[in-house]
Amino acid sequence: MKYRTILLFGAPGSGKGTQGKILGTVPHFFHCACGDVFRNLKPETPLGRVFVKYSAEGKLVPDDFTVQLWEESIQANTRSGRFHPKSDILVLDGIPRNVHQARMLKETLDVRAMFWLQAKQFDHLVSRLQRRALKENRLDDLNIDVIRERLETYEKETRPVVDFYGKKLVRKVDADQLPLEVCYTIMGHIKRLGLLPPA
Ligand code: ADP
Repeated sequence: MKYRTILLFGAPGSGKGTQGKILGTVPHFFHCACGDVFRNLKPETPLGRVFVKYSAEGKLVPDDFTVQLWEESIQANTRSGRFHPKSDILVLDGIPRNVHQARMLKETLDVRAMFWLQAKQFDHLVSRLQRRALKENRLDDLNIDVIRERLETYEKETRPVVDFYGKKLVRKVDADQLPLEVCYTIMGHIKRLGLLPPA
């Protein structure tokens, strides 16, 4: 059985996590942020070390490792009853992050929509990331060189995922709006797409 899924997509700092957290509080929506799955690893374990090595350089963690870890996390959430694949919509943020991951997940995800959060100003992204660095203790957000590397990785490796899913599924969302306005826009799309759970 494939998971009914909506994807939150965009550059680092575009607000995917914020929107994911909001959507995740709505009954029948289950939010999973791939970055959080990694950050829950203990840094002193072999897997945790792999994550720290790549993320500290602003690079993507290798695909096999990423997809396997993500699948294990979803299965654990299903077993514990937090995620109900039959009735819930899976809200993903941070995965798939390149075309290879999108191909690997083709048989697992039934993607109904992809919300592409577009921030026009590079400076906005950088200042949001630097603010988050302090608030959420994210070391990869502190260093401007690492931020640049992550934004470059996004342009080179992640952005092509838009073409993988294509115009039919992709909805562009202005990410320079206030978080609540972004949420309102996304909710409007979700309603029009008929993805709201039954009353
Ligand atoms: P952001 O969206 O701000 O870049 P994330 O929390 O999504 O932050 O990701 C933090 C880091 O975790 C990334 O820079 C990358 O190293 C790693 N990561 C997260 N998701 C993936 C993924 N799907 N594939 C590979 N690496 C990932």
